[in-house]
Amino acid sequence: MEKLENLDKIVNLCKGRGFIFQGSEIYGGMGNTWDYGPIGIELKNNVKRAWWKKFVQEADNSFGVDAAILMNSRVWDASGHTASFSDPKMDCKNCKTRHRADNLIEDYNKKHGVENMAVDAMSNEEMQAYITEHQIKCPNCGKCDWTEIKNFNLMFSTKRGVTDSNQDVIYLRPETAQGEFVNFLNVQRTTRAKVPFGIAQIGKAFRNEITPGNFIFRTIEFEQMEHQFFCHEKDGEKYYNEYKQKAWDFATSVGLKPEHLRFKDHDKLAFYAKAACDLQYLFPMGWNELNGIHNRTNHDLSRHQEFSGKSMLYLDPITNERYVPNDIEYSIGCDRLILALLCEAYDEELLENGETRIVMHFAPHIAPYKVAVLPLQKNLSEKAREVFKKLQTKFMATYDEAGSIGKRYRRQDEIGTPYCVTIDFDSLEKDTVTVRDRDTMKQDIVKIDELVDYLQQKLGL
Ligand SMILES: [Zn+2]
Repeated sequence: MEKLENLDKIVNLCKGRGFIFQGSEIYGGMGNTWDYGPIGIELKNNVKRAWWKKFVQEADNSFGVDAAILMNSRVWDASGHTASFSDPKMDCKNCKTRHRADNLIEDYNKKHGVENMAVDAMSNEEMQAYITEHQIKCPNCGKCDWTEIKNFNLMFSTKRGVTDSNQDVIYLRPETAQGEFVNFLNVQRTTRAKVPFGIAQIGKAFRNEITPGNFIFRTIEFEQMEHQFFCHEKDGEKYYNEYKQKAWDFATSVGLKPEHLRFKDHDKLAFYAKAACDLQYLFPMGWNELNGIHNRTNHDLSRHQEFSGKSMLYLDPITNERYVPNDIEYSIGCDRLILALLCEAYDEELLENGETRIVMHFAPHIAPYKVAVLPLQKNLSEKAREVFKKLQTKFMATYDEAGSIGKRYRRQDEIGTPYCVTIDFDSLEKDTVTVRDRDTMKQDIVKIDELVDYLQQKLGL
């Protein structure tokens, strides 16, 4: 259970070292919003780049889009979000706080060792009865005095136009997927792709969540990395399994350990879906969804065909068969993945001198900075700047000349910089530097001329 204690430590490290800050902090913050700082944005960009490489660059027949966040409201009628994208919520009559009924039951079951109960398959009436029967209490005040369960739509809505006469409601998209579906015809036409092919997108989505977020695990504004793979119905199962494997391979390639990952099939399938599962990660608060994989059949394209009146039929050039393609959806929350990577990388090591160092063992390709340049003394800074300028053209690099060398190493360890280059008096006389490895703390003497090659090889870049 050692992992369970780490979330507070990680939040503190993130705040202290510039990974992630509370949103609107100087105004007291805003619930479930977070801002990425100078270190966090590097990590996030690297993760997005690694994902794009795997799902677009290295994939056959895969194409990217960047669709608008604001979409025609008919999209959300077609997708079913206006009618039924809601959470079962209830208010505590005593302390007036709002809670999700399913979460109350899940937390209660976790505490009381009730396993394998399909809470997401329960109706509102069943949940209400269960809460009453077990006298499940308000986590805020401890009373059991609830209102009836009501469904609250999770979409943020706003109104278009500056005059009252134009009051069409528009929504901030609650998922990125529809941006891929509505561009199915455009992508197919312009790329001349043949089914099977995929559409990828990375972008923001918004959900009006009331549930406490566990740091960046659940936020009201978040980034999704998503891939829709369109195929013939008969190949659905094959590609579903292929995308499960891809999900696993990507998660481990960015540094998540296999023993902290597992697949879990959904208890309840949507009426149109053939298969659905989550890739879960062992977060500090327990096993939780990281990544969803869905065989959605041809539901989404069929709905858009019905609502837009545009034919989504694909003509197979070889068999001459006409059909609406099936879709295998892969979706991962980028912020959620960042949290998993922070938890995985975090380590406290006892050193020989009795001190403890905090070190983030990020995989080199996702580490915010690849290398730090540290002059041993201030009068070496001219030479150090020279080396830094050279490295900057090849790697995300940082420069630090303030404080003892030991303290500077600790700072780099805490942001996960794989290599520190120290400039000493030999650098002036022999044109060499000392390179320290973050994980082993071993040091190598390297010629300045050979430094870029040395680092490229070590970093595997
Ligand atoms: Zn209460």
